Amino acid sequence: MATKINIEEHPCFNIAMMHVNARVHLPVAPKCNIQCNYCNRKYDCINESRPGVTSSILTPYQAVKYLSALNDQIDNLKVVGIAGPGDPFANPNETIETIRQVHDAFPDKIFCLSTNGLEIEPYIDEIANLGVTHVTITINAVDPKIGSKIYKWMRINKHVYRGEEGARILMNQQLAAVSKLHAKRIIVKINSIIVPGINDEHIQEVAIKCKELGADVINCIPMLPTADTPFGTLEEPSKAMVFKTRLLASEHIPLVSHCVRCRADAAGLLGHDLKESYALLREFASRPDRDVSDRPYVAVATNEGLLVNLHLGEADSLYIFKQSSKGYKFVEQRRTPTVGLGDQRWIDLASILNDCQAVLVSGVGDNPRVIFENCGIHVIQMTGLIDEGLEGIYEHRPIRSISKQEVMGCHGKCSGNREGCA
Ligand code: SF4
Ligand code: SF4
Repeated sequence: MATKINIEEHPCFNIAMMHVNARVHLPVAPKCNIQCNYCNRKYDCINESRPGVTSSILTPYQAVKYLSALNDQIDNLKVVGIAGPGDPFANPNETIETIRQVHDAFPDKIFCLSTNGLEIEPYIDEIANLGVTHVTITINAVDPKIGSKIYKWMRINKHVYRGEEGARILMNQQLAAVSKLHAKRIIVKINSIIVPGINDEHIQEVAIKCKELGADVINCIPMLPTADTPFGTLEEPSKAMVFKTRLLASEHIPLVSHCVRCRADAAGLLGHDLKESYALLREFASRPDRDVSDRPYVAVATNEGLLVNLHLGEADSLYIFKQSSKGYKFVEQRRTPTVGLGDQRWIDLASILNDCQAVLVSGVGDNPRVIFENCGIHVIQMTGLIDEGLEGIYEHRPIRSISKQEVMGCHGKCSGNREGCA
């Protein structure tokens, strides 16, 4: 039976819990589907403390292992959240899988999400069923004219929308999400970033509209001018502006005002993050990214069994290796399916390799790479000694002769500004 969760324990929603209950953000969502004019996620400095910054990205599997380790180190770790560094629903598979695994392993934790609200709607039933009790949506405008000054673009299904059209799409999805989350009895917090001269006089309208749709609280956050962004040279909102904006919003909806603008990998009490958590996070990010206990083997595309020197498409057979107490041991050769079956060839091959955690190849096309990765087989492009590749996989060491494409490939771990990433 599911453990009953007391929502009053959330330190971001209840100021009395701020110095009592800790929270952790699991950084599993690197991509974003919109570009806010105040956001820059290029930095991963551990001294930089603001949303969008993280020292590493985790896979769902790594995130749960990291959470287990943190849970032993932090007293009263009550809340587990996903807050980027991009947006949870620009990375829906990673987000849902993380929630699922956390829910299974830690049913007594409060689970919350922080999102811009774009593309959350199809997942609301699922997150409610998985026990998410709190969602924060950042809504900066309920007027597309104002929204168009705050957002550079929105991307849905690889289509980019700009200007008032984009701001209207975002606004409509955000407001529909507030209603639906409320209907699912999920606590909804609205974050509104106060941008001087752009929306400071408009946030009251955001408060009215969101309250009408069922939002529970609002959090009016002064914008932090960030270097290399369109709003980087704006003045930070004055204390008087922040006070007035909050006062006007609070006439319509309860206000929370103790938000400390946390990093996407924050861990600990609000305002008192556990600094050691950054090293721990990096350590877990370098550990296996999936459960490989039932996949003892590694497949290799090789001519002679010494070097990785075949493109996957050229290999009539793959050599299978395993780790043993005496080093790496050749197990057998497995034939690859006939050329000419299109993607079915790669699906069949993934099935033949379903006990392999990785495949070493000198080259691979995009389709087989994606099919293999989706089947849980990590594809590594390299040239050089097979032993070096096997050591990299089994000992979690960097592979020196890894190919350039592999190093430069995105794999969702880019810390750039994602503008060129579709
Ligand atoms: Fe940055 Fe969040 Fe805006 Fe995305 S939604 S651009 S991560 S502030
Ligand atoms: Fe809580 Fe604000 Fe930090 Fe989010 S950013 S965890 S709302 S204090």
